Amino acid sequence: MTGAPQQEPENFNPWDNVVGLIEQAGSLLGLNAGLVQRIVKPERILEVAVPVRRDSGDVEMYTGWRIQHDTSRGPGKGGIRFHPSVDVDEIAALSADMSIKTAVVNIPYGGAKGGVRVDPSQLSIGELERLTRRYAFGIAPIIGPDRDIPAPDINTDYRVMSWIMDTLSMIRGYNVGGIVTGKPIAIGGTFGHAGATSLGVTICTEALLKKLGRPLNEQRAVIQGYGKVGAPLVKLFADRGIKVVAIADVQGAIHDPDGIDPVKLAKHFEEARTVVGYPGAIDIPANMLFAMPSEIAVPAALGGVLTEEIAQTLSAKFVIEAANGPTTGEGAAVLKERNVTVVPDVLANAGGVVASYFEWAQDLQGFMWERELFQQRLEKTMRTAFDHVWTRQQQLGVTLRETAIAVGVERIAEATELRGLFP
Ligand code: GLU
Repeated sequence: MTGAPQQEPENFNPWDNVVGLIEQAGSLLGLNAGLVQRIVKPERILEVAVPVRRDSGDVEMYTGWRIQHDTSRGPGKGGIRFHPSVDVDEIAALSADMSIKTAVVNIPYGGAKGGVRVDPSQLSIGELERLTRRYAFGIAPIIGPDRDIPAPDINTDYRVMSWIMDTLSMIRGYNVGGIVTGKPIAIGGTFGHAGATSLGVTICTEALLKKLGRPLNEQRAVIQGYGKVGAPLVKLFADRGIKVVAIADVQGAIHDPDGIDPVKLAKHFEEARTVVGYPGAIDIPANMLFAMPSEIAVPAALGGVLTEEIAQTLSAKFVIEAANGPTTGEGAAVLKERNVTVVPDVLANAGGVVASYFEWAQDLQGFMWERELFQQRLEKTMRTAFDHVWTRQQQLGVTLRETAIAVGVERIAEATELRGLFP
């Protein structure tokens, strides 16, 4: 529940950004303008009031949202985040990203997202539980295993998922395990969900470098974020011979040109709750992270961080977007001009939602898979998606981001057209 820088640039509107990208994909694919507008517009936006009794006895009001963007390919799917930057535009943009992401990896879901505008670091554990349960109660009328299935996202974890699952089970009067994913194994979670996003990022990184004929052990990486995605990634990269030379978290950043030891860093973090001050590296200002000499840059925290300015000073030739929406429109233009290859979020970080799909499938079947089967299927799904996007990019001659969005939009368009327009 930590590891993400807390600020987004003020002038970045994630919703406008994603609309532009979907419209651009529509033109690239020669889709009818009306169809593109149907795809752009969220199907359902629910805003809920979330009153929470603080430990002091005072009641504080928060606002939450759940947005179902597109359900033409299956039930809505997407995480829930607790963060002070949450607003309707951010959640709408992230819900559209989920529609595209589930389509890019070709799993039978639509896209959704939820969030509460709150700084959870200011809440006690009891307050966090009350906030979660009240928010879950608020969105209860529109979620369900065959309607919309939430999951963890920024500042939410297996505990938050357990409370949501329990709240919904209490309301319905029976266990509804398949209503959220990212649950602990004891209550219907799956082997492999924790760390699945990081594994997917690693699979995409390996696949990209293989296509380009670059040995893994000649690469240096910088990682922004040491939370649920960033922390396991340091180890996965190091295990494959990729030197992780710099890491940033909320408090600052560290740098070691010889590579940071993942196990020693994890030990330091356990006590310090930050990467800063890790004795094996030197502390550097967080805004220097992406300028550190490296081949691979992985934003694994908040959106909108790869701005025009950061993109200009970025050292890496490859960006693997582990976070959702880390690159602004202007940032993307600079990266394109500088010939930096970007594996976009809707492909690179899809390992998490693929793992969620496997968890949900096991819940619905009431049958648990072995770890090996999970691992094998995750790898296959991610590699197939990467290869498909790569091949389409050669045909379309646009960036990997433009291609991935086109692949997603094409699949959503096909489902939308097949189903027709009601009534
Ligand atoms: N929050 C993750 C994402 O943005 C996972 C979503 C899910 O598993 O539903 O992809």
